[in-house]
Parts: sequence; C-alpha cells; structure tokens
Amino acid sequence: MPEDNLVLVEGLRKWFPKHTSLLDRFLGMEREYVHAVDGVSFAIRRGEVFGLVGESGSGKTTTGRAILGLTPPTEGRVIFDDVDLTALDKTSLRKMRRRMQVIFQDPMASLNPRMSLGEAIGYGLRIHFPQLSSDERRDRVTGMLDKVGLSPANYFYNRFPHQLSGGQRQRAVIARALVTQPELVLADEPIAMADVSVRALLLDLMNRLKREFNLTYLFITHDLATAKYICDRIGIMYLGKLVEVAPLRELYTYPLHPYTQALLAAVPIPDPHRRRTKPMPKGEIPNPIHPPAGCRFHPRCPLAQDICSAEEPPLVELRPGHTVACHFAEQFLP
Ligand code: SF4
Repeated sequence: MPEDNLVLVEGLRKWFPKHTSLLDRFLGMEREYVHAVDGVSFAIRRGEVFGLVGESGSGKTTTGRAILGLTPPTEGRVIFDDVDLTALDKTSLRKMRRRMQVIFQDPMASLNPRMSLGEAIGYGLRIHFPQLSSDERRDRVTGMLDKVGLSPANYFYNRFPHQLSGGQRQRAVIARALVTQPELVLADEPIAMADVSVRALLLDLMNRLKREFNLTYLFITHDLATAKYICDRIGIMYLGKLVEVAPLRELYTYPLHPYTQALLAAVPIPDPHRRRTKPMPKGEIPNPIHPPAGCRFHPRCPLAQDICSAEEPPLVELRPGHTVACHFAEQFLP
C-alpha cells in the first residue's frame, strides 16, 4: 500500500438479499439480490477529501458504510492504514472504530434526545478512552464544543438536542465524531438537512477542522455543487459502479463520462441571466436487482451504441489520475 493511501478499497461488493415470501420459497424461486455495490476499487489518500457522488440508489452510502465496517461486504477488501478491516473479528474492528467516525445526514436522528450534549459527546470517550477521569472527559468535551463553535461550551454542555437549531445540532454531531481523535471521517450528506444559510458555514467548519486535526474525509453527496466546495478528488458512482474518478478541477474541466457530464449540466447556476440547467437524461436509475448488461448507464445514455449493452467498459486511466469507464470517452479528451 503506497504511503500516502489511508484507505484502499479492492473489488468491494455488497449485495442485499431481497425479501422473499414463504410461498416463493415453497415454490423454489431463486433468492434475488439487490446489487447495491458491485465491484468498486479506489484509494483515499491521507489528508484528502475524497467525494463519492451520485444519485440516490447509486451505492455511495453503502460503499461508505462497508468501508467503515458498519455493514459487512459481500466480497472484496478494505485496507485501512495497512490493516485489512474485512479480516478482523468484531472486537478488533470495534477497537479500530475510534480511528474512523461518521457524520450522518440527520443530526436529530443521530443524537439521543434524552442525552445532553455533554453526555452524547463524552460517550465515545467513555468507550475508547476509559482511563480518562470524569474531569478530563469533561475538559475534552468542552474543548471540542468550543472548536465546533458551540460557545460558551459550559452552557452547551448541558443542552439537549431539542434546545438547539439544526445547524447547532450538526455542529454537535461533528464534535461527537471528532472527540475520539479519528483519522478518517465518513461524512454522509452532512449538510443536506441544514438550512441553506448555514451550509457554507458547516463546510467551512469541516474544512478548518480537517486542517487542524489532519483528518481525511470520505464525503458522500448527491450534489456536485457541494462536492466542488470541499472535495479534492471525486468518484462518480452509478448503479453500484464507479464510472469516473478524477481530481476536482480535472473532473469539472474535462468530464469524460456521459453520466458525469449530465450531472454537471444539471447543477443549478445561481445567476438568472445565464442559461438554465439541463435536465438529467430521461428515465430512472434501473432496478439494482437486475442491473442492465454491459454499461449500466446505457438505457439512459444519449451516446449509447450496440457495444454498450453487450460489453461492460473497464475503468481505465485516460489522463494522469483520471479514470473513466466508457467505451467512447476518448472523444471527450482535450
Ligand atoms: Fe454511454 Fe456507452 Fe459510454 Fe456507457 S459505454 S456511458 S452507454 S457511451
């Protein structure tokens, strides 16, 4: 594993069994699977913000959860700092969890309404740093409350989630994630439920904390405009596959996959005098139980040709650090 990779994902698959009725089983019907993630490989470099971007149902959240061991992969390996997480037993994986934390989309759902912020943020310290005295724990929690802008910290220490605004709740969730001094933070749509007025502030806060604590983020979003604000590199996912990976500026300047091009064209432009955004290509994401053969994007792709439904395009590097899975991507090279 090269020194600058914190995480290496190799051939990750996660299939969920579809619920089958007793009658189906009695009739001997074969069990079907939702192919949520279907053979994904990429690396996350130490200190970067790697964005996974795609529509709902693309498999980005399942990929993130599988990387952190929150859902066991069906196949493939996740190497974290030279340790194969997929080979660890539950106890060893639990120990590694201190180094990998999560910020979920809905702060109200991720905070226990009956716990004060002091208790909620201190909980991870109780588990991972049992040697700390209660005074030391309190100091660490109040220090972190200050870092995320919940000041005066002693006041917020005793507040409950329902006494906070949405933005303050998400700051508390960020504090809870960072108080155990993780190295990798999975941020799953962390600003999607925040007011538009505080979204940029939360992203700025995450950026500042990343620098201060030398963090690495896996940032999951459906929104390329948000990804542009914070990510260093981006992987575009479609129906359980990675279709394009590139550094941020490279991806925005030379999008090589028709799906990435469609996502970029659909990003709203905040200027009423400029042309309107284009809609996404027609059609829904196909059923992940029976994904299309060949290129999974072919039923919606405006450039699809016969080969696209017959052969799956491999992910190949067409420019330095820029990989894409499309039979006809070369036509978009500068
Ligand atoms: Fe479109 Fe074919 Fe490229 Fe898939 S391989 S994105 S269907 S042109």
